[in-house]
Amino acid sequence: MITVAAADKIVMSQAKDYGAELVPFEQTLGRVLAEDIFADRDLPPCNRVTVDGIAIRFAALANDVCTFRIAGTIAAGDQPIEITTDNECVEIMTGAALPASADTVVRYEDVAIKDGIATVLIKDIRQGQNIHPKGKDKKQGDIVLKKDRLVDATIISMAASVGKAELLVKKLPRVVIISTGDELVSVTTQPTPYQVRSSNSHTVRAVLQQYCIQAHTLHLPDEPQVTNEKLNECLAGYDVIVLSGGVSMGKFDYVPRALSELGVDQLFHKVQQRPGKPFWFGVHKAGAIIFAFPGNPVSTFMCLHRYLIPWLEACMALPAKGHQYAILERDVIFAPSLQYFIQVKLNVNDQAQLIATPIEGNGSGDFANLTDSDAFMELPLEESNFKSGSIYRIWPFKRIV
Ligand code: AMP
Ligand code: MG
Repeated sequence: MITVAAADKIVMSQAKDYGAELVPFEQTLGRVLAEDIFADRDLPPCNRVTVDGIAIRFAALANDVCTFRIAGTIAAGDQPIEITTDNECVEIMTGAALPASADTVVRYEDVAIKDGIATVLIKDIRQGQNIHPKGKDKKQGDIVLKKDRLVDATIISMAASVGKAELLVKKLPRVVIISTGDELVSVTTQPTPYQVRSSNSHTVRAVLQQYCIQAHTLHLPDEPQVTNEKLNECLAGYDVIVLSGGVSMGKFDYVPRALSELGVDQLFHKVQQRPGKPFWFGVHKAGAIIFAFPGNPVSTFMCLHRYLIPWLEACMALPAKGHQYAILERDVIFAPSLQYFIQVKLNVNDQAQLIATPIEGNGSGDFANLTDSDAFMELPLEESNFKSGSIYRIWPFKRIV
């Protein structure tokens, strides 16, 4: 049995790059950018007017000119009309390109217009006002987005603005989620009192969907030959195999033996933790990574967030989030020589502190408890008395602020 820290190190040492692929930019939400994106032209591409009003030459005001003949109107998207004298102006709309012959824009609110003549009503005018200068935000060829960023709505917006119809994003590993157990039935089946509906594959699938991974699912009976056959197929067809169940000491826990018979290198089996002690981890010579989690729903859920998700984020080269911590809200006693991942509810108090309130359920089979929790708090192995007010690391699985 190894420590959580050692298991973490082994899992993270297996992070790898699955390459990159071009994807239509509208379909990249939640993917990770694998290329730098450049401005294809200056941003803004012209001296862009930011209000509706009139464009004039500032020098005219210095010469006490405050009435201007309207030479024309420029809408957004129009080629600009030039003015030829200090006594002229053009009406101009938000988003329109300023003519080269004008340098200042006065908003309609500060102008009176009558019979084709505009009179500026105020004195306080700055040269260049109400203009967003060409290239002020970015120059042509500047980097507008650096790679290794999670694509969000602002990135989609930027891609659209610079004409990137396709984005190079990190490829996602092909994942299969395998549930094991003769007691499991499908969601739509009425279970006997001795059966349970299989939930783990749905849970894992839902969590991976948040990373845009559309995992396949498979169910295996507790039967050694079928287990070998199906695992063999999966080792050839997937980059990642997530198993739940069948890795403990039970008479029908065939998974570790099947994996080793198929040439999967066991990197560890059993971690000094609760829940999730029987966690099994290995790699196949052809490259597949195998996360075999104990079947208890809370164990699977904890191992998924503590090991698989950090591994996945490292594979996708997402910038490390840094550790997150919270303050334990009340005393907890946990004597076993295991690192305890206690379920907690998180709240920010009026001192801007993140407070973790333990929500202790009925052990690793108590999945209902998870719906009320926001995170696991990782309580150190060496201690047994965890005092209210102490700060410990958390592994959030819900949005917390
Ligand atoms: P195992 O790790 O196979 O010994 O399973 C431990 C416990 O988790 C048993 O009570 C199983 O019924 C339960 N379990 C295993 N797999 C699943 C699953 N996919 N969905 C819900 N419960 C499961
Ligand atoms: Mg089982």
